[in-house]
Amino acid sequence: MTIDPYAADDATWAAAFGDQPAYRVRQIRAWLARGVDDPAAMTDLPVTLRDRLREVLDPPPEVVAETSADHGLTRKVLLRMPRSGEAIEAVLMLYPRDEERERGRATVCVSTQAGCAMGCPFCATGQAGLRGQLSVGEIVRQVTVVQRRLATGEIAVDGAPDHVTNVVFMGMGEPLANADATLDAVRWLADPERGFGLSARSITVSTIGVVPGMRRLAALGLPVRLAVSVHAPDDALRDDLVPLNRSHPLADVLAAADEHRQATGRRVTFEYVLIDGVNDSPAQAARLAGLLTGRGAAHVNLIPMNPTPGVSWTAPPVERQRAFARVLLDAGLPATIRANRGGDIDAACGQLYASYTMESGRILPMAVGAAARVAGADR
Ligand code: SAH
Ligand code: SF4
Repeated sequence: MTIDPYAADDATWAAAFGDQPAYRVRQIRAWLARGVDDPAAMTDLPVTLRDRLREVLDPPPEVVAETSADHGLTRKVLLRMPRSGEAIEAVLMLYPRDEERERGRATVCVSTQAGCAMGCPFCATGQAGLRGQLSVGEIVRQVTVVQRRLATGEIAVDGAPDHVTNVVFMGMGEPLANADATLDAVRWLADPERGFGLSARSITVSTIGVVPGMRRLAALGLPVRLAVSVHAPDDALRDDLVPLNRSHPLADVLAAADEHRQATGRRVTFEYVLIDGVNDSPAQAARLAGLLTGRGAAHVNLIPMNPTPGVSWTAPPVERQRAFARVLLDAGLPATIRANRGGDIDAACGQLYASYTMESGRILPMAVGAAARVAGADR
């Protein structure tokens, strides 16, 4: 069994390289922390040790495909993970420096699961079901692979950073349904000594509302940003749009979001997918405003529904999206309508897996059932 270099603890390193001076392991870990996980590139190690590392460590994930959109500002990399053999998508979104943004940003959107068990009917990942959990190494390597491509100039855009500045856990899967690996990945990314050294403030974890996981995230003691996917202003509708709501209803999810803000000092972002004729009426906007007012929301992110196979839902017309946002703004909530990135390559965050679902024909009956119930309901 080879070692996952990003999951290995002190004891594992000691057992594997106990015959080496301690500084060798420190050197190896320093390379890993910089995102260099190919032993051949660890140039300060003796060649014999590099050869041994190649045998002992999991190989880096293979980049199977790379697609780009938005004039090269959005890139999707499809990675084959060495351990599970799973193909995982990660997305890089570049935001070059401009008048508004003094410093550019390079944000990586990572997946935490292959598929997702939550079955939200509007989501392509949810329709495919859960195929497996990713390990901490498989999560952080989505960042290191991109970091390497930026550092070597394989990906280079004028005014955009040559390193990863932000990480968002918004790819495939529900991060807090794989909480052990997600929390370890967050810790590693934010660790300035042994890890990637990213500011915890630049890390965002998006959740559908796994309350116990939200509590564990808050208890980490790191000022990580939490994004909560709300999607409906009441339990009756949310039960169908977010099946997990039946065990973790809105009030509990919002209370856990409040706890996160109190524990970390970070304001919470709320996400709301706008679906034409389902959750986009002015009355629903007013109800949502009622729920979120007084919670110190950092941001209400309105995401026009991206079409997915399996359901016929679409985004509301732009005017209706704006009217929804206006109700929230009038109530004093900082609401914006998200410009979808990478729509033409299915790389919009949260939109991964659409091609898998389509090709395999695997759409969860649960997702189709929930969509039918919403369609049949009188709202
Ligand atoms: N499981 C987590 C994180 C991944 S999804 C969560 O649900 O929060 C990331 C975001 O993409 C979520 O807000 C999700 O609601 C959104 N999303 C999923 N499917 C979408 C679709 N078809 N159109 C627009 N946004 C979608
Ligand atoms: Fe899973 Fe999030 Fe998609 Fe729901 S929206 S199915 S929780 S990835």
